Amino acid sequence: MQLRYSFRLYPNGTQRSALARAFGCARVVYNDALRARETARAGGEVFPTIGDLSKLLITEAKKTEERAWLGEVSAVVLQQSLRDLDTAYRNFFSGLKGKRPRMGSPRFKSLRDNRQAVRFTANARWKITTGKDLWLPKIGNVRVKWSRALPSTPSTVTVVKDSAGRYFASFVVETDLETLPETDAVVGVDLGLSHFATLSDGTKIDSPRFLRRAEKKLKKAQRNLSRKAKGSNNRTKARIKVARAHGAVADARREFHHQLSTKVIRENQAVAVEDLAVKGLARTRMAKSVHDAGWSAFVAMLEYKAAKYGRTFHRIGRFEPTSQVCSVCGAKDGPKPLNVREWTCGACGTVLDRDINAAVNVAKAAGLAVSACGARVRPGLVPAQREETGTHRDGQTTVVGIPAP
Ligand SMILES: [Zn+2]
Repeated sequence: MQLRYSFRLYPNGTQRSALARAFGCARVVYNDALRARETARAGGEVFPTIGDLSKLLITEAKKTEERAWLGEVSAVVLQQSLRDLDTAYRNFFSGLKGKRPRMGSPRFKSLRDNRQAVRFTANARWKITTGKDLWLPKIGNVRVKWSRALPSTPSTVTVVKDSAGRYFASFVVETDLETLPETDAVVGVDLGLSHFATLSDGTKIDSPRFLRRAEKKLKKAQRNLSRKAKGSNNRTKARIKVARAHGAVADARREFHHQLSTKVIRENQAVAVEDLAVKGLARTRMAKSVHDAGWSAFVAMLEYKAAKYGRTFHRIGRFEPTSQVCSVCGAKDGPKPLNVREWTCGACGTVLDRDINAAVNVAKAAGLAVSACGARVRPGLVPAQREETGTHRDGQTTVVGIPAP
């Protein structure tokens, strides 16, 4: 299977200029090719092929005065830019034919785009040097922060500059399935607002402190920005700080998702998650927190890690009312407002923890054999002793932190 690995790059001043040139040339070739194809389309002519475009817009263009500077960057980067355009058209046309989700026609790239990228294939003869730098043609040895080991040698590297001005090298690597020792444990996961995730064994997981700290810094930077006068130098500085803080939050969140998804996949043979569309929260005023929680990124990690480590991944469908059904007796108890954290089953009298109950139901809907014990705050039918009431719960509800990497 293919996995993407990204590492932070630290180009020096000269390299940053060289990269800016590469981004610019790739963008110009992309836009020239887009214009050529759109002109052909408008005139009812046959689309120029990638070969035609490459000859006209790269090879021939380099010989002209107004495009001579295309020769200053690796030709591979320009070729790849044409391929990207071709892919964008292909996706657009298959969308029209209903073969994949519909999307807009390819658009012109701008200097002001949030993300700039160029791709080097094996033909560019890029390499990782003995000194562990990334050597790129017409750019040189760029320093890399290798945060984890690459499982195999990649053939292609994409260099990205994000809106915060940070550089990354992104590699697509072919990896083998790594099977983990088998386990009997299976788990259902409920993603929620009161806790980031609740597991069917009763574990509740909140955002770790490093993520909350990054979020706090971002809020402070945003407040600071709003106080700065429009058009002032200080406003520009504050805006850069906000962009950096955004980047730090995104990094911290990704790290948290990685740690948690690895832990869940390691400890369980099968994992079930509710299809996020079910939650129906995305269209409500909860939308912001849903977005911030980054559930879909987390679920995508669970899915690929399950594939990577030979575990089973279930996504349960739209019509399972996981928060309305008693996981102990199966009675359907009707919808509950979001602020109801505990409820008593009208049929069997069990007092249920909303989130754990939902996680148990997710697991059951996927056909996983989990115990409903975790969801039970108090068992039904057996009245609790007066002195125990409210002092102790079933003992399985724990809030865990995620260990540092
Ligand atoms: Zn019940």
